[in-house]
Amino acid sequence: MGYKSDIEIAREAKKKPIQEIGDKLGIPHEHLLPYGHDKAKVSQDYINSVQGNKDGKLILVTAINPTPAGEGKTTTTVGLGDGLNRIGKKAMVCIREASLGPNFGMKGGAAGGGYAQVVPMEDMNLHFTGDFHAITSAHSLLAAMIDNHIYWGNELEIDIRRVVWRRVVDMNDRALRQITASLGGVSNGFPRETGYDITVASEVMAILCLATDLKDLQRRLGDMIVAYRRDKSPVFARDIKADGAMTVLLKDAMQPNLVQTLENNPAFVHGGPFANIAHGCNSVMATSTALKLSDYVVTEAGFGADLGAEKFMNIKCRKAGLAPSVIVVVATVRAMKMNGGVAKADLGPENVEAVRKGCPNLGRHIENMKGFGVPVVVAINHFVHDTDAEVEAVKAYVRELGSEAIVSRHWELGSEGAVDLATRVAEVADGDSANFSPIYPDDMPLFEKIETIAKRIYRADEVLADQKIRTQLKEWEAGGYGNLPICMAKTQYSFTTDPTRRGAPTGFGVPVREVRLSAGAGFVVVICGEVMTMPGLPSVPSAENIRLNDAGEIEGLS
Ligand code: ADP
Ligand code: MG
Repeated sequence: MGYKSDIEIAREAKKKPIQEIGDKLGIPHEHLLPYGHDKAKVSQDYINSVQGNKDGKLILVTAINPTPAGEGKTTTTVGLGDGLNRIGKKAMVCIREASLGPNFGMKGGAAGGGYAQVVPMEDMNLHFTGDFHAITSAHSLLAAMIDNHIYWGNELEIDIRRVVWRRVVDMNDRALRQITASLGGVSNGFPRETGYDITVASEVMAILCLATDLKDLQRRLGDMIVAYRRDKSPVFARDIKADGAMTVLLKDAMQPNLVQTLENNPAFVHGGPFANIAHGCNSVMATSTALKLSDYVVTEAGFGADLGAEKFMNIKCRKAGLAPSVIVVVATVRAMKMNGGVAKADLGPENVEAVRKGCPNLGRHIENMKGFGVPVVVAINHFVHDTDAEVEAVKAYVRELGSEAIVSRHWELGSEGAVDLATRVAEVADGDSANFSPIYPDDMPLFEKIETIAKRIYRADEVLADQKIRTQLKEWEAGGYGNLPICMAKTQYSFTTDPTRRGAPTGFGVPVREVRLSAGAGFVVVICGEVMTMPGLPSVPSAENIRLNDAGEIEGLS
């Protein structure tokens, strides 16, 4: 193949000093806090000073249900951002930070791909500016303070069988999923079962990404439930008196990280909550600051539109007062084929029939997004082996639905390949036709909110839940949590809870296995199917091939 790998392209990037990138946004040098030459945080004072600016237009990039063939949401987000800049618009990109652990397993990087990437990609996939370290530390401090409180007499009467605050580390390490802590005698405390999650699954991460300022951050940290008493009443992080010190540990991590695309356009890379037990998008701080600094902000939601975009709008936008002007739904010919029943190994040959067969998955996502009152543009993320007939089949299908699909070649060509997409997206955004609203009101009962999502977004017939779960939801409503939004945790591969059911299935129910209250983040997590909060490594982890070469460069990192 004549194509360079993502890391080879990233290494050839002609990066500009980060101050020059800040200049494009009008950020004075004293308000850029550099981490090396190519990364900087934006000072809180500067963020405060731009609050009076008019907001730019928010563009959400989402996708069809993911397939192993890859959809390229991040790649398209970056390509569209560069495309907008190329046609003379002042645009910036907001994406998530990558979790370190999964890079050593099998996951590819999180910085985009081909000629649509954010750099420095190695840093982004490793320690970056230390935000995740800060989150791990804040989380660990609270964990240590809880056990310490119990050790010194347990004045709060925590039932040590009901400590719900686990521990975190940013590593795929299945050995830590379930552990017994405090072994080894009297001076080590009271033995109890607990376990580790990966850092991105921490509620602290979700809070950092939803908090609007440091005060809001501290309030939310204090609101987290860490344990229950024998009478089942909750003990909060505030009761442990950890919220102040945690805020201190997180104060720098709250500020967005400025980096650049391969084409030297500004990008914020900030925050990275899980997309299942959390809402899966970059921070409110980054998005709302970007809107003050540029005319167009392109951002991405994790997973497919049934999960990521739904949560982006019903959780993030609702809570932060944001409203997208246009939604870009990314589709690929390959993924359409897979939704049409083709196996990954058979994606090579042209198969227009399979493309057509897979299109209803895209169609349902388009309708769903319009249901939020936001206009939709479909981006066909072009792979070099896609044939014209296959591309035309997707376009024709989308046209029949009264929408439009635009082919974009940003992966292969950078911004030059994204001019058509950028031009149309800017037109639609400027047309101000969006009339955004979340699909359920705050005051709807929790179970009805779940039903609304399942029926309107997934097209399920019903939600199946035991009396125990329904009673739990009622108890939370009585406890003052009834106005919270819902955070669905289900497979990303299907509208249903069965990952093998591709396309646009009908005639199914959504079984709810468990509900959890994230009182600090401010949502009720509804678990349908398996959720993994501590991944493992595969039999041959990519770590085995990651190394420094003789030039001191990193090899093997996706
Ligand atoms: P997502 O954000 O949807 O998870 P990414 O944008 O991170 O997807 O892309 C996943 C992988 O697919 C990356 O390695 C990227 O280089 C590759 N990729 C994306 N778009 C294309 C394309 N048009 N052609 C070839 N590879 C692509
Ligand atoms: Mg992505």
